[in-house]
Amino acid sequence: MADLDRYRRRRDLDRSPEPSGDDDRPPPGDDPIFVIQQHDASTLHFDLRLEVDGVLVSWAVPKGPSTDPAERRLALRTEDHPLDSADFEGTIPADEYGGGTVLVWDRGPYRHLKGGADEVAAAIAAGHLEVALDGSKITGGYALIRTGSDGDQERWLLVKMDDDGADARRNPVSTEPESVRSGRTLDEVAEDGDDQ
Ligand code: MN
Repeated sequence: MADLDRYRRRRDLDRSPEPSGDDDRPPPGDDPIFVIQQHDASTLHFDLRLEVDGVLVSWAVPKGPSTDPAERRLALRTEDHPLDSADFEGTIPADEYGGGTVLVWDRGPYRHLKGGADEVAAAIAAGHLEVALDGSKITGGYALIRTGSDGDQERWLLVKMDDDGADARRNPVSTEPESVRSGRTLDEVAEDGDDQ
């Protein structure tokens, strides 16, 4: 599971400001973390990443997470990312893989709802995971359900569970665009240039 080969193969890390994943830091605390990064690449999308066994297991969610349990959001599994990329905010050069501006849209600890933290990898392998996210914008249970694959691209759905964090009237993806790390918008991160 902890395999960053695809991540490194796709990137020229001498040219991209993204972390290499080389500094093997211990996890930041007892609870595993999640992060949702907004990524203004060839198409604007949100990357949901969950810390699992020392890497960030990742999905690209074109429309971002919903707080409405009636909404099903497509989530495309992407390559695992290094843990230190959870803090990454900045601009990847246009001619590099994933070129475009990234901001830390939400983050916090998460909890596996159907077992221990050591059972998350097995739940992902089985194609059905339920987690509680404790972020600034996104809270409560979310289900991730694998629905199929196109070649080696797994297709999943991200669905809000009906709990205290559910609210069909909220739309944080559009009403709360600022980074939880720096307070900046995508345009401001793009203008500032380097990661700060
Ligand atoms: Mn992305």
